[in-house]
Amino acid sequence: MHILIVEDDQAIAANLYDFLESRGHRVDAAADGTLGYHLAVSQQFDAILLDLGLPGMNGITLCRKLRQESQVDTPILMITARDTLEDKLVGFEHGADDYLVKPFQLKEVEARLNALHKRYSGRMTRRKLEVNGLSYDPKTFSIRFESKEVKLPPKCIRLLALMMSEPGRVFSRKELESEAWEDAQETSDTLRSHMHVLRRALMRAGGYDPIETVHGIGYCLNSRAPSQD
Ligand code: CA
Repeated sequence: MHILIVEDDQAIAANLYDFLESRGHRVDAAADGTLGYHLAVSQQFDAILLDLGLPGMNGITLCRKLRQESQVDTPILMITARDTLEDKLVGFEHGADDYLVKPFQLKEVEARLNALHKRYSGRMTRRKLEVNGLSYDPKTFSIRFESKEVKLPPKCIRLLALMMSEPGRVFSRKELESEAWEDAQETSDTLRSHMHVLRRALMRAGGYDPIETVHGIGYCLNSRAPSQD
């Protein structure tokens, strides 16, 4: 996961940073609300760990601005020194997804982040997506190229929508399988054959195949169309 930590307490921030990085996550950190907000709107994160009491812009304001002004729907795990129902309600009201009270166990932080990320991945496909002439409409659960509908089986639509949610990012076979088949165990042949169907249909619709195979890892949707010459 790519995680943003917004926390002004240097010791807590360093602890979180070191722990999450040692667990294989890519981590960025901001020590005040203004920088945190700037990073959250300018980069793509999988989750944000947000302290409530911050200099510059407090956690609640940051949360509200992200959701309302910038339409950023990255999951937010709010961390706070206080534990009152009122604080929780205010946090949730302004767009936080979960809440953790200091002091906390680092393992607990990771477990909560993983749970949020999992929920959020399932939610991605509710956004309207557009990449290089391809569009995905969650309301009609359909894919179009330019304005013509591309007929695809539902599993292929799910796979493509997931890749369209982050063009240029490599999705592992496991991530793609769990998006299309949820918890059912599928063989890699099933994914491969669905990818084949998907790529052939896109090739027919747009004249080129926008999906790239990343050997040994998975697949990625090119963020740019091939040049015409
Ligand atoms: Ca603080």
